Amino acid sequence: MKNLLLVRYGEIFLKGLNRPYFIRALIRKIRYAVRGLGAEVWVHDGRIFVRGFDDLQECIDRVTRVFGVHSVSPAIEMPKEDFEEVCARAIEMASDLSGTFKVNARRSDKRYPLNSPAINEEVGYRILNANPKLKVDVHHPDHLVNIEIRDMAYLYVKVIPAVGGMPVGTNGNATLLLSGGIDSPVAGWMIAKRGVQINAVHFHSYPYTSDRAKEKVLDLARKLSFSCCGIKVHVVPFTEIQMQIHEKCPPEYTTLIMRRYMMRIAERIARETESEALITGESIGQVASQTMTALGTTDAVADMPVFRPLIGFDKSEIIEIARKIGTLEISELPYEDCCTVFTPRHPATHPKMDKILEGESHLAQEELIERALEGTELIRV
Ligand code: ATP
Ligand code: MG
Repeated sequence: MKNLLLVRYGEIFLKGLNRPYFIRALIRKIRYAVRGLGAEVWVHDGRIFVRGFDDLQECIDRVTRVFGVHSVSPAIEMPKEDFEEVCARAIEMASDLSGTFKVNARRSDKRYPLNSPAINEEVGYRILNANPKLKVDVHHPDHLVNIEIRDMAYLYVKVIPAVGGMPVGTNGNATLLLSGGIDSPVAGWMIAKRGVQINAVHFHSYPYTSDRAKEKVLDLARKLSFSCCGIKVHVVPFTEIQMQIHEKCPPEYTTLIMRRYMMRIAERIARETESEALITGESIGQVASQTMTALGTTDAVADMPVFRPLIGFDKSEIIEIARKIGTLEISELPYEDCCTVFTPRHPATHPKMDKILEGESHLAQEELIERALEGTELIRV
């Protein structure tokens, strides 16, 4: 007898020719997730199994966080010939259940001496006798005791929900503007969940922002890197640009002009890394630079789509996800962000494009961007 984990994936994406590609990608991601556990991952009869692990709980924790996995079931695999033994295992599996149940037998080996209804009846009867806390309900049972007779017998009861989504990489690349705050790591996680490989860009204003602030962003990227299967973080020196904006542009427009520069630089990096979109953690009205008019002025400098998955979320809802994915405790550490250092007292909430363009005309845009890109440091986490 062997312990294994049965892995289920969503069916919607699996129609047609993409199916083998999707499954191969998912298997690679599950292998990446369980590395170090001594487990092997393989496909059998169109289903994915993990086996050979020592620590079942750890294996479940990791596999249920892989994008593309919809649920898992701890299962046992055993020879099907000894029906008495199959019954004994089924009774054992049902021993800690209470409420209602139903045995759900499936027989793909049609030469097996008992057919599915006969297995249901016999195993159901024995479980009922062994566990007085259970009753049969064939229509809406609390628990399904699954018995599959294939080349071997497979038994499982529990179905543990997983994160869902699609395997990272099956939907291309995108570039995340990653700050040290709460929102942007959540935004990146949400897009990665849709099968997108994430690159990160962080703007660093040394010495106005410390090395600790940069470390914090790398810690956030490390936290995301399990689900996102590794992240490249581009750390862009932003001090010169910020100083110039501060000196030469109207104070109520400095934040917006700074954000437009972030977009321009992020887009250049995005093109070099074959990204097809930018991602930010903005949501409508959260701060002055996130009114709809203000978002329009930052959008205007980008040629590629800008994804803002948190656009309609309240802060409390974002915090909830950040807690669930484990980035909240890092984001909550104190830090200085380049945006906070140079924040004007009265940022424009209804910015005028002609004022922005007038302000920007005092800056040597191409040179500033070139120098920032030249100084960019690439860190893989
Ligand atoms: P976060 O949104 O991550 O919690 P925040 O709310 O302090 O941080 P804002 O000033 O609201 O950040 O910026 C909005 C978005 O701009 C962020 O979600 C992020 O995508 C991007 N951004 C801000 N600062 C930086 C930075 N230093 N480096 C990279 N991206 C940044
Ligand atoms: Mg924010």
